[in-house]
Amino acid sequence: MASFKDFNLSRKVQDAINDMGFEEPSPIQASCIPLVLEGKEVIGQAQTGTGKTAAFGVPIVERAGTDRRVQALVLTPTRELAIQVAGEFRKIAKHKRVRSLPIYGGQSIVHQIRALQQGVQIVIGTPGRVLDHIRRGTLKLNSVQMVVLDEADEMLDMGFIEDIESILKETPDDRQTLLFSATFPSEVRRLSARYMKKPEHVTVNRGEMTVPLTDQVYYKVLERSKLESLCRIVDSEEVSLGIIFCRTKRGVDELVEALLARGYLVDGLHGDLSQAQRDRVMKRFRTSDIELLVATDVAARGIDVDNVTHVINYDLPQDPESYVHRIGRTGRAGKKGLAISLATPREFKLLKQIERETGAKMEAREVPSLADVAERQAEVWRNRIIEAIQGGSLGHFRAILGNVIDEYDPVDVACAALKIASAGELEKREEEDYNFGDTGAKPGMVRFFINVGRNANISPSDLVRTISEEAGVPGQTIGKIDIFDRFTFVEVEQESAPFVYEALRKSRINGSRVNLEPAKPRARR
Ligand code: AMP
Repeated sequence: MASFKDFNLSRKVQDAINDMGFEEPSPIQASCIPLVLEGKEVIGQAQTGTGKTAAFGVPIVERAGTDRRVQALVLTPTRELAIQVAGEFRKIAKHKRVRSLPIYGGQSIVHQIRALQQGVQIVIGTPGRVLDHIRRGTLKLNSVQMVVLDEADEMLDMGFIEDIESILKETPDDRQTLLFSATFPSEVRRLSARYMKKPEHVTVNRGEMTVPLTDQVYYKVLERSKLESLCRIVDSEEVSLGIIFCRTKRGVDELVEALLARGYLVDGLHGDLSQAQRDRVMKRFRTSDIELLVATDVAARGIDVDNVTHVINYDLPQDPESYVHRIGRTGRAGKKGLAISLATPREFKLLKQIERETGAKMEAREVPSLADVAERQAEVWRNRIIEAIQGGSLGHFRAILGNVIDEYDPVDVACAALKIASAGELEKREEEDYNFGDTGAKPGMVRFFINVGRNANISPSDLVRTISEEAGVPGQTIGKIDIFDRFTFVEVEQESAPFVYEALRKSRINGSRVNLEPAKPRARR
């Protein structure tokens, strides 16, 4: 197994990686980081979620000096990705005096110019805005040593090829170029052939894998309600012994805290624990003192427990092989287990890749509504009551009831006992699911109103692209689009509506700030 120590990184970068909670390099990082540190050009085939950002971020920060000129340039297709990549760079450079800045359309250019004037070593930007700065003379690329084309296929799909070429011409010929892309259509290959020097190819696909015969399902979840979704899934499943996987040590600690606060029997396992602490946690898990064990991949490797009923990928694994390892922890000893994966809109492509490469069939499931969860719990309690009646030996309890049974209706007595025994678990909860009501859409669809239209230069393809990028909704499932002068209507399938709503209710399309809300039926035209 590779370790971050193998890369001989400086103390400052190594410490930052540790602070981020990474335990070991992901496969794309293990192959990419040493090559980039050696000065090689790299073409990486990787989706979001594989750790590709740190695969180029770590060596770039490692090699950056404190000279206040732009030394590295990362081009990304969208402003969201630029912001996210910049966030990751900031964390990697936490202990080093290396500054990174995202620049993208839609944000005040004056603000960006001021930030650039202060001197930054790493610029992360969308092609249009980067070019804009070059033309204004506010961004100089003549000392750039490294260029990253991130999500190259997306950038080319969005028609950025000319911008990218113009930008590359502004950088020195002896720069080191890295290109990351999920797919390699001919345009991407042409781009790399023209601008890269003897690139090495790196991929996370590892060929043949034997996937255990475990039932596999996935749930589409939203990032901000991931915890609530997890709780509902756990509540609706009879998890007697489950392992929940998180990506980082920090992720494990945070999830354990959150689940404890909600009353789950849970403990965590990761590489920072001492052997004694690990042994204690494992003992609690083996003896079912806890029902849920939250762990990183590294920590879970040593686990040898036979009757794990559920493996839950709270964070998706970073490559198909780790997926296979993880789900192999359940369904042992001839018992059938269930592997559950949670996928946020951004991770959706990675999920599909894992499915493709492992050849596993994952069934899509809907996050149970609160009503479903309640019904499931009710059934569990009914069964417990029936078992207790059938098990007999109730004489002692009858004596405790004494004459309560004569004074009150026996059904009321039973209900009260159930209320006490279930300790709040069965209380009526407010349904807080998305209910968009009648939006004037055709059956099975939800119609949304967007407060901009032709006045913001929005085209149907902008809208389809934004919805599929931001909400992980396939373009072909998007229904009718009506663009008017000052507003727009769009229909999406009911099941993707919460994804679209959460992703776009306050967002930007083409740089314009937009508001999206469920349409009113009367507004139909
Ligand atoms: P990316 O594919 O770059 O979008 O990364 C997906 C997520 O994985 C980000 O939240 C990263 O911080 C996280 N990540 C990257 N590398 C590692 C690693 N080696 N171990 C754990 N988490 C990581």
